[in-house]
Amino acid sequence: MALAKEFGNLSKEEAQAVGNTGALELAMADRMIENVVGGMTLPLGIAVNFLINGKDYLIPMAIEEPSVVAAASNAARMARPTGGFRAHTTEPVMIGQIQLVDVPDPESARLRILEIKEEVLKLCNEKDPVLVKFGGGARDMEVRVIDTARGPMVIAHLLVDCRDAMGANAVNTMAEAAAPLLEEAAGGRVYLRIISNLAVKRLVRATATFGKEAIGGEDVVEGILQAYAFAAADPFRCATHNKGIMNGIDAVVIATGNDWRAIEAGAHSFAAMGGHYKPLTTWERDAEGNVVGTIELPLAVGLVGGATATHPTAKANVKLLGVNTAQELAQVIGSVGLAQNFAALRALATEGIQRGHMSLHARNIAVMAGAKVEEVDEVVERLLAVKVIRVDKAQEILKEIRRKD
Ligand code: NAD
Repeated sequence: MALAKEFGNLSKEEAQAVGNTGALELAMADRMIENVVGGMTLPLGIAVNFLINGKDYLIPMAIEEPSVVAAASNAARMARPTGGFRAHTTEPVMIGQIQLVDVPDPESARLRILEIKEEVLKLCNEKDPVLVKFGGGARDMEVRVIDTARGPMVIAHLLVDCRDAMGANAVNTMAEAAAPLLEEAAGGRVYLRIISNLAVKRLVRATATFGKEAIGGEDVVEGILQAYAFAAADPFRCATHNKGIMNGIDAVVIATGNDWRAIEAGAHSFAAMGGHYKPLTTWERDAEGNVVGTIELPLAVGLVGGATATHPTAKANVKLLGVNTAQELAQVIGSVGLAQNFAALRALATEGIQRGHMSLHARNIAVMAGAKVEEVDEVVERLLAVKVIRVDKAQEILKEIRRKD
């Protein structure tokens, strides 16, 4: 830290800000990653009103962006009269890829690999008796032949039920263990042995109905359907549509110590799977004229392993959430994604996104302008009154306030 402080010319206060690890002890942080000097804290909010599969949840969300927690809570409130969210998951099966190159006869090599499937699965399961004890383990194997710029490759997919683990370490270990057997059977050379984040066998699906009266009438329903059709037809809009979904998803993923890069990679590759980048949600009008949303995406989250097991805040958040399995956690997260998308589309289709954002945005601007905690409220109030939310205006207001004092 001393070196970084000197190199970056940091003041004592700045060095302390970097060095603050919050609830995570420095020694623990140092065991999690390399070259540790401190911590990076994010605001943690709690989304309310969520009723999922008949159970009430308080949902911790770690995020720096204003409005996300309020929007999720608001959407969840509107879904309650119609029963809240219904969510389910597939089995928590991850894919481990083993790449074989220079295989002279790729199609017959594919069959030779499939012939030794049981032997491969047995070997993999010997590598993780704990996972097997908890009901998981290597379940199946699929083999594909793909065309690449360097000729055909044989790609084996090891399908591993990871139960309550995200599974990257478990799957990578198994893929590495299986590789020599596959190499022998295929007759080529193995290169990569690694999990795929396109977790198509580990999906979460959730749905909710929003009553047309509860959300502001038929015009709002129409606006949401128009917004959805836009996203489904246009990748420029779709990127932002899905970003709004990930606002909610990532916030819970981070709060529970899960790997949000893995979730992001899985979500966007899934959205692009058909060769056309598509929304992760759908929106339709039901027979009564209400709007019904669905969401479907890969969600490889765990309750054991990774930071979920080591970060004290993540552990407490999982307890607060009250989920018993990784699948239940995925159901909660999928529902939050759907709620977040509903809130964004409703705002966009009615008053626009900025009104809801403005007062929170004004707080950020006030702080950027140098307002102290006790000055923020007055600066925000005056920025909103003049409807000019800019740093120069906030500085001007601050000067006036301070002159007055
Ligand atoms: P892990 O290896 O720390 O824990 C998983 C292990 O816990 C299992 O293999 C099993 O032996 C044991 N276990 C105990 N109780 C269990 C239960 N109820 N259900 C299932 N397993 C149980 O963690 P992991 O989930 O294998 O790996 C997650 C980490 O890997 C994350 O931190 C992630 O960031 C990292 N990672 C990700 C990628 C990627 O996504 N591409 C690649 C490498 C590493």
